[in-house]
Amino acid sequence: MERTFLAIKPDGVQRGLVGEIIGRFEAKGFTLVGMKLITATRELAEQHYGVHKERPFFAGLVNFITSGPMVAMVWEGDGVVASARKIIGATNPLNSEPGTIRGDLAVNVGRNIIHGSDAVETANEEISLWFKDEELSAWTPCLTPWIVE
Ligand code: ADP
Repeated sequence: MERTFLAIKPDGVQRGLVGEIIGRFEAKGFTLVGMKLITATRELAEQHYGVHKERPFFAGLVNFITSGPMVAMVWEGDGVVASARKIIGATNPLNSEPGTIRGDLAVNVGRNIIHGSDAVETANEEISLWFKDEELSAWTPCLTPWIVE
C-alpha cells in the first residue's frame, strides 16, 4: 500500500492548526499509520531538505524547521502521495487554490505550514529518515469497505 510522509511545520503547530490539518486527511479517507511530535535536529532538517542546500533560502529554512516542534506523520492509501500534494496545495500559498491547506490557511512561502513528499520514492526515503519501522502501525480501519470498493 502506498505511503507518504507529511509534516506539520513549526508554524502550523504554533498556530494551533494540527487538528484542522489532520482532520482533512482523515475526512478524505486516508489512513494514519505513524505520528509523533518532534523538534528536528539541524542534522535531520539538513538531510530532509538536502536537495535545496544550494538555494538562498536553505539556511533560513533549516533555522525555521528546527525552531519548534513539528507533527511528523505517515499516511497510507491508494494514490496518497499525489493526492496529499493536491490537498496541501502549491508551494507558495499565494498561488495555492482555495480549498487546499496552504490556500486556506497560509500566505507566505517560508511559512507554508505543511510538508508533503513529492513522489513515491521520496516518500519512502523521508519515511525512513523520520521514523523507525516499529513506530509505524499497519492497520485496517473498520470503515475501509465504506471508503474503498
Ligand atoms: P514543497 O514544500 O511544496 O515541496 P519545495 O520542495 O520546492 O516545496 O520547497 C521546500 C520548502 O522550502 C517549501 O515548502 C518552503 O517552506 C521553502 N521554500 C521554497 N521556496 C522558498 C523561497 N523562495 N523562499 C523561502 N522558502 C522557500
